[in-house]
Amino acid sequence: MNRKQRRQAAKDRAAAGSTAPVTLAPVTAGDALSDMLGRFAGRGQPADAPIPNYVRDTVRDRVSKGLGGRRDRAALIRTVEAAMRFADTAWRAARDRTEAPGGKSLACKAGCSWCCYQQVSMSSYELPGLIAYIRESYQGERWERMLARLKERAAQIRALSVDDYRRLKVICPFDENGNCGVYPARPMKCRGYYSFDAQVCRWIVEDVEASIQARESNRLPEAFSGESVAIYDDAQFGMAEALQAGGFAYDHLNLVLAIELALERPELLDRWLAGDIDALAEARAR
Ligand code: SF4
Repeated sequence: MNRKQRRQAAKDRAAAGSTAPVTLAPVTAGDALSDMLGRFAGRGQPADAPIPNYVRDTVRDRVSKGLGGRRDRAALIRTVEAAMRFADTAWRAARDRTEAPGGKSLACKAGCSWCCYQQVSMSSYELPGLIAYIRESYQGERWERMLARLKERAAQIRALSVDDYRRLKVICPFDENGNCGVYPARPMKCRGYYSFDAQVCRWIVEDVEASIQARESNRLPEAFSGESVAIYDDAQFGMAEALQAGGFAYDHLNLVLAIELALERPELLDRWLAGDIDALAEARAR
């Protein structure tokens, strides 16, 4: 990090830590989580039962209470972190059932990163926390290497269509030898992506043309967890509803473009936080 970036990191730390803490109540065993899990696991409820909005409603309520009427960077970072922790807890509970005897086993494990070859989208709400985490945790040569990868990927994304980018077979700039360098702050989309078959994930990367054809004819193998996607998508909906009601503008961003833009031009993130809904438009997901 150079001096300007260190100053910005200190500013972020101050913004995140100088005001009264924003906390959301932890998930407890007594929650109505079992209702949601019964639906997701296909147990205890008829097939046509309505999908409970437990995660969405709970995250919306907790984020709303956590904000407590505040509209600043610190409140945003902490409520988004809390919403992520809630979704992680809900998924851990659902995952236990997903992996129960007789059920399918998930293939995801540390060191496997086939899913990180795809472009990732994220909400603008997740950006300030990710930026604060990156500024805090990347130093020296690691910072320089990450920044070089980030700029290279951003240039490629700007120049190519989503499928042509896939044809390059390049991995996310935050991958570090199969591990995510921003794991604690990674976006909800990354959190919710789980597979039952690593060979399918590998095939999608290695045989791009066949996987594009399969996608276009609706014949992609069923290898991915719908439960994890549903939980994290619901958490994002609930979080977005509360934050929009709290005065934070929503934008749908490309992970790589958004981080590059916010690191290179931090004033744009400040402008977005101040209410300029188009401040991050250059980084919108396609
Ligand atoms: S942010 Fe992390 S989990 Fe998400 S694509 Fe990049 S390396 Fe993978």
